[in-house]
Amino acid sequence: MSATQYDAIVIGARCAGSPTAMLLARQGHKVLVVDRATFPSDTVSTHLIHPPGVAQLRKWGLLERVIATNCPPIHTYAFDFGPVVISGSPGTQEEPYSYAPRRTVLDKILVDAAAESGAEIREAFTVEEIIVEDGKVVGIRGHQRDGESVTERARVVIGADGRHSTLARTVKPEQYNERPEIESSYYTYFSGVPTDGRFETYIRESRGFAAWPTNDGLTLVVGGWPYREFEENRKDIEGTFMRMLDMVPAFAERVRKGKREERWVGAAVPNFFRKPFGPGWALAGDAGYNKDFITALGITDSFRDAELCANAVHSSLTGAREFNDAMGEYQKTRDEHVIPMFELTCQIAALEPPPPEMQQLLGAMAGNQEAMTGFTQMLGAVKSPAEFYAPENVEKIFAAAAQRKPAGP
Ligand SMILES: Cc1cc2nc3c(=O)[nH]c(=O)nc-3n(C[C@H](O)[C@H](O)[C@H](O)COP(=O)(O)OP(=O)(O)OC[C@H]3O[C@@H](n4cnc5c(N)ncnc54)[C@H](O)[C@@H]3O)c2cc1C
Repeated sequence: MSATQYDAIVIGARCAGSPTAMLLARQGHKVLVVDRATFPSDTVSTHLIHPPGVAQLRKWGLLERVIATNCPPIHTYAFDFGPVVISGSPGTQEEPYSYAPRRTVLDKILVDAAAESGAEIREAFTVEEIIVEDGKVVGIRGHQRDGESVTERARVVIGADGRHSTLARTVKPEQYNERPEIESSYYTYFSGVPTDGRFETYIRESRGFAAWPTNDGLTLVVGGWPYREFEENRKDIEGTFMRMLDMVPAFAERVRKGKREERWVGAAVPNFFRKPFGPGWALAGDAGYNKDFITALGITDSFRDAELCANAVHSSLTGAREFNDAMGEYQKTRDEHVIPMFELTCQIAALEPPPPEMQQLLGAMAGNQEAMTGFTQMLGAVKSPAEFYAPENVEKIFAAAAQRKPAGP
């Protein structure tokens, strides 16, 4: 048994955990972060960070470190629907780029930043049990790799331990907006497939695939199919994947000219929200809110959660606010912000052809740079779906298209 009483223990040291710990430590709290992994290490995740996530890294003073790893900026998102390609900047004038640092690179930068801010980091430490006394979470029991079981206590235990969260398994929070797996995807890395700073994505019937640049001159290539095909297609991942790319011969040819540098990695995830707090505990990142990765929002969302969660925990630790009040606001702000994108994500993940009215809108957008940029900014998490699909905006797009149409005979 350790004699130390921490203000906060954070389980999980990746996109949600390390920033939460860093922000609490920067506010003067005594924080312990544990993770069963050691860093640098990879995890099953592609790693596109949209401009709002990039803005968080900048605000925390960490963007320069990411850029210094020779991670190239991504200046354009291009969505190829077959008949139309919608292409534009994902960001704004202030924050124009996305980045896709390897998780080996990103997560290490985050862990180091938490340590530099004063958080105590224990890598290779597995939490086996959450300690609950009188209905309140008061600590953790776990062990260092090959070590003996130890107990650590804290005023609050934060589960940033991913979608299979040990903390959530113990406290069994209310779950809502649950949807089972919708699609399954595989990804790998190629050399010799330049993308020139573009995130390119191809949407075809029951298929979606994309490519974008990352560290070490590599290009990440990812693609997927409906979850109902998961079992059948896993028998021949590479064959199924390459047949999918053949739906866009020019893209398939570019990929075939390159060299696959790593193994295939795949996943399919369920969609859910969890109430992210209760007596003595909180959840951040995927532990509290998980969704299909097709819109690449998990890291950006985890960064925002980390800040909301850390601020709420801080205000309750200092006595400025009641725990339930502060954390209730965290949940409300999170849900209001992410639910529209969650709905859009589930729709896109179905990999169904766009409905007729959407096809008309896509057709009207083609060639209208302002409209296309609005669309790419929405999928870059800069603009909300409510703003883009607002009737005034849609009408404006159709009106501009009608004006561009050559006069009939
Ligand atoms: C295939 C795939 C592709 C994706 N692509 C993107 C993308 O392009 N862009 C994007 O923004 N998001 C993407 N995501 C989502 C993104 O990976 C997650 O949203 C993000 O990793 C969540 O971070 P987290 O810190 O909440 O959890 P995680 O990254 O899952 O980290 C949880 C940590 O907790 C630790 N842990 C868990 N249990 C314990 C325990 N009992 N004891 C000690 N440690 C424990 C784990 O070791 C792990 O390090 C993708 C996800 C998948 C599956």
